Amino acid sequence: MSGPLSWRRAGAPSRSRAVFVDRDGVVTRWLRGFALSEADVVFNDEVIRALGEIDRERFALAIVSNQSCVGRGLLSVEGLRAIMDRVVAGMRARGAELDAWYCCVHAPDEGCACRKPAPGMLFAARDELGVDLAASYFVGDQASDMEAAARAGVRGLRVEPDDAAGVRARLAEAAALLDGAARR
Ligand SMILES: [Zn+2]
Repeated sequence: MSGPLSWRRAGAPSRSRAVFVDRDGVVTRWLRGFALSEADVVFNDEVIRALGEIDRERFALAIVSNQSCVGRGLLSVEGLRAIMDRVVAGMRARGAELDAWYCCVHAPDEGCACRKPAPGMLFAARDELGVDLAASYFVGDQASDMEAAARAGVRGLRVEPDDAAGVRARLAEAAALLDGAARR
């Protein structure tokens, strides 16, 4: 069993912390089924703008996403990479430069260590990006996102699907927490 499919931006500076984000329902519009082509990718513009306001001197920004459509035989690895290329470009165009992404491509019955709610993708990000998980955040709209965060020791920020106002509010609360931690 191999690990998640991943990508890192060449030349991305190293940061000690990260904001992890789910893809479907957060960065892109929630779909009832799988995103199997670039045409299925509809951006949540206001969510991405909010992510663009994160303090990028301190925080890396990375997507952590389950994409079992690959393991189910519905989409090729190349197809997923093409979709993720579109996500990276679309986020850049909307002001949020992604540093990395991690996608679990396994089917649920493969028993991998990366499919959320397992924490494997967050551990991979820790090892590859060098971030402190205990000082990092995970913005997600699913219970599995919050469970993965908890199991990795990351602070979970739960939002509703396609909820830009919620993303802004949770990030603002997180910033306050950080300020409080810095004062102690
Ligand atoms: Zn996996």
